[in-house]
Amino acid sequence: MPIYEYKCSACGHQFEELQKFSDAPLVECPVCHKPALKKQITEAGFVLKGTGWYQTDFKNEGSRPSSSGSHAAGCSCKACSANSKN
Ligand SMILES: [Zn+2]
Repeated sequence: MPIYEYKCSACGHQFEELQKFSDAPLVECPVCHKPALKKQITEAGFVLKGTGWYQTDFKNEGSRPSSSGSHAAGCSCKACSANSKN
């Protein structure tokens, strides 16, 4: 069974759900209970890597992660490595 990643566009809650292909996509957020879930196209494995710095970044910044390109301290992506040289 594939793992689907969902993100709530109302509260920003993100989680993974194991579903059959035949299952209907989830719509209601388990946190804020609004029908604002969006299914992310992704693959298992990539998800784990992606959410690591994403969540750290979110905690540190308290605002829009990944949009400004400011990653968490210790992020080893190419962009961050280049920035830390200054
Ligand atoms: Zn929500």
